[in-house]
Amino acid sequence: MSIIFANFASNVLECGLKNNFTGQPFVYFCKSFLYHYSRAQETLKSLLYDFYVKPNEKLMHFSILKRVLFTVVTLIIAVSPALAQDMIARQAPVDRKMKAVDTLALKDLIHREQAASPAQDLYEDWNNVYAHKATQLPDSFLVDLRHYCMPTPSRVVTSNFGARWGRQHKGIDLKVYIGDTIRSAFSGKVRMVKYEAAGYGHYIVIRHNNGLETIYAHLSKPLVDENETVRAGDVIGLGGNTGRSTGSHLHFETRICGVAINPAILFDFRNQDVVADSYMFRSNTYKDESAEANRLRGKVGNGGYTREQVTGEAELAATEAVKTIAAETRYHKVRKGETLASIAKKYGMSVQEICRMNRISKSKRIKAGQILRCS
Ligand SMILES: [Zn+2]
Repeated sequence: MSIIFANFASNVLECGLKNNFTGQPFVYFCKSFLYHYSRAQETLKSLLYDFYVKPNEKLMHFSILKRVLFTVVTLIIAVSPALAQDMIARQAPVDRKMKAVDTLALKDLIHREQAASPAQDLYEDWNNVYAHKATQLPDSFLVDLRHYCMPTPSRVVTSNFGARWGRQHKGIDLKVYIGDTIRSAFSGKVRMVKYEAAGYGHYIVIRHNNGLETIYAHLSKPLVDENETVRAGDVIGLGGNTGRSTGSHLHFETRICGVAINPAILFDFRNQDVVADSYMFRSNTYKDESAEANRLRGKVGNGGYTREQVTGEAELAATEAVKTIAAETRYHKVRKGETLASIAKKYGMSVQEICRMNRISKSKRIKAGQILRCS
């Protein structure tokens, strides 16, 4: 491959082209960085298309670029100390700027990939047919539990995960009343919205970006459609008593690769919180963790509860949900012809809000390829 290394101090680096790049990270330069681990079947052409790269912009292997950068800097330093200092001084803010844009662009890319198919590393296929067909379990997997929203404000666990009446209860039962709001626990994409008269009743399966799948059963009314993207805290349905259920409640399941794990390992319904910022799933220990989780965070007493314990303080719960949504920031890559006004409209914001968020003035001209924070 050939590398053309052009204007060092400018923002635009012209690079060579590498054709065989499967499994390799690559970077494309033109006002912003994008990293992408290429997968089988992807071609340079398909990537160019995916990343809106114009044909005259080039791709190259990241490690080679780093080497080139290092070599050039070393050369300059060797040749002329004074010039080198100048160059480095001029380069520093550009580097910082690039890093900032880089992070935003990377987040944006991840966001877009997840929107299409969440947790692709764990799940090979996307279907609307099997609620929980077990697939290859990883030996260990770190589940990010931040940016969660409790699916219900109910603090009342009426039935634990585990052996029950001679069979396995694959979820946790939470007291809710018919019509109570049920929310998505994390961001992701709705995989199934189905009805099963002899079992789950109306139920929803959501695949989350953190690798978990959650199931919400016995609903009176689902409020989302299959293949719809949801964010943590979005209302997905109303609590109910449909299917095989005695008394209205939410049957809530958490699964990894189709295998049910005790939701009490992850969620503390009594305290309306997650147990930690993350959970390290290990295929050889998760079963043992279940009993301990039931003891610590499971059913209490003989089923007595107050209405307030079930419905929570509605306002507080809503605020928490809003906070969770706010914690997930959205980014927008400016396309040709777009203006601050058109972008603001798209995200339901004012121009002032976008300017404040991005620390730019209203009169600033935005350029295609620029990344803007939009929530
Ligand atoms: Zn249940």
